[in-house]
Amino acid sequence: MKLKLTLLLLLAATASTFAQSADSLMLRKIYDEELVNGQCYQNLHYLCKNIGQRLSGSANAQKAVEWSKKLMESYGFDKVFLQPCMVPHWVRGAKEQGFIVDGTKRIPVAIAALGMSVATPKAGLTANVIEVHSLAELKDLGEAAIKGKIVFFNRPFDPKFIEPGRAYGAAGDQRRAGPAEAAKYGAVGVLVRSLTEALDNYPHTGTTQYDDKVVKIPAAALSTIAANQLSAMLKKSPKTKFFFKQNCQQLPDAPSFNVVGEMTGTENPNKYIIVGGHLDSWDLAEGAHDDGTGVTGALEAVRILKAMNYRPKNSLRAVFFMNEENGDRGGDKYAELAVANKEEHIAAIETDGGGFTPRGFGFTGLQPGALKTMNQVWKPLLEPYDADKLTPGGGGTDIGPLRVKSPSTVLIGFRGDSQRYFDVHHTPNDVFENVNKRELELGAAAMASLLYLIDQHGLKF
Ligand SMILES: [Zn+2]
Repeated sequence: MKLKLTLLLLLAATASTFAQSADSLMLRKIYDEELVNGQCYQNLHYLCKNIGQRLSGSANAQKAVEWSKKLMESYGFDKVFLQPCMVPHWVRGAKEQGFIVDGTKRIPVAIAALGMSVATPKAGLTANVIEVHSLAELKDLGEAAIKGKIVFFNRPFDPKFIEPGRAYGAAGDQRRAGPAEAAKYGAVGVLVRSLTEALDNYPHTGTTQYDDKVVKIPAAALSTIAANQLSAMLKKSPKTKFFFKQNCQQLPDAPSFNVVGEMTGTENPNKYIIVGGHLDSWDLAEGAHDDGTGVTGALEAVRILKAMNYRPKNSLRAVFFMNEENGDRGGDKYAELAVANKEEHIAAIETDGGGFTPRGFGFTGLQPGALKTMNQVWKPLLEPYDADKLTPGGGGTDIGPLRVKSPSTVLIGFRGDSQRYFDVHHTPNDVFENVNKRELELGAAAMASLLYLIDQHGLKF
């Protein structure tokens, strides 16, 4: 009896060691394929330089859709298809102008309209400025202090956060909700300090959300240098005014698409593991890190497995979501179709934090205790590649709706070294030249590794 038990334990241990070493060999092959034959960097180059900025509803966004579909088809996936969705169509118009007005002196500063903002009057808008640091302060000041003025939200990134993404989250309410809130107290315009810790002259755009019940007032991002300058001048002379002129427009919703490439599962064709990013980008640059690296990296993860003649048990998909930046209509559409088509999504990986050196993955929706076991079993496999930080909490804007509609889906966020992300995020500096080939490739290989491990072993430890 005892002998039998020992034998069984020995067999189980051998089987698990065998599985482990088969997995570790496979991961090595994945990395070899990517580091020798990787194509994501050249794909990113095409997307950035031959297509460029691709805000939802634009002609470039449509070009990006067509190029993505062709590219996926060239990889010989089992299925490549588009998912139609209507998207907001906001245009910036002629470049904005901004001046600090000090008596008769006009000092030009770098501004950019926030995405979805309305235009100023044609001749521009001049008003006194009131600096605030939070929505709570705005409320305390109330209408008496704010009416007729431009509200200047100037709360900087909190440098104490180790992950800049958390500082972004903590400062982001100024941009997202600031203009709608300020309008409630009679403000005529809003300036927001750019959401970055970098001290530079790039205005960082990004979407703002109006309240349909309140008048919409124009809103712009100020570069951090300009924000410091304006703040210093207001301290010296509180009568300092600001002039800005912006020409943006909200056009009728436009038709667009998510782009999906699939390797169909051999055992469970109706169970899906997906990896994706967003194809749209802000209009100020090439959307290289945000989120060109995401889409090209996600596609590469599936391409690697296809190139290795891997036959997945479950269906694997690369998904290029449309409209993450100013509406999330693509994410909503994907989730809606998953339910309508009765697709079971085991897991969804999103990469939307820049194409930087991979560190690991964050997970939302695992069974209790699963992450602990995963850290015992998978962490050693990922450790040689420095992509072994497997932590609680993770997901993304595009895949969020999937878990709302299909609550059994595990959401996974690709985690890279994020220290430099907010230097370029939503700025004219988000260009191909700021992406490193090796970092992008290592990220794609890390995602391919995770796709493989989930496909082989599932997520129910
Ligand atoms: Zn993004």
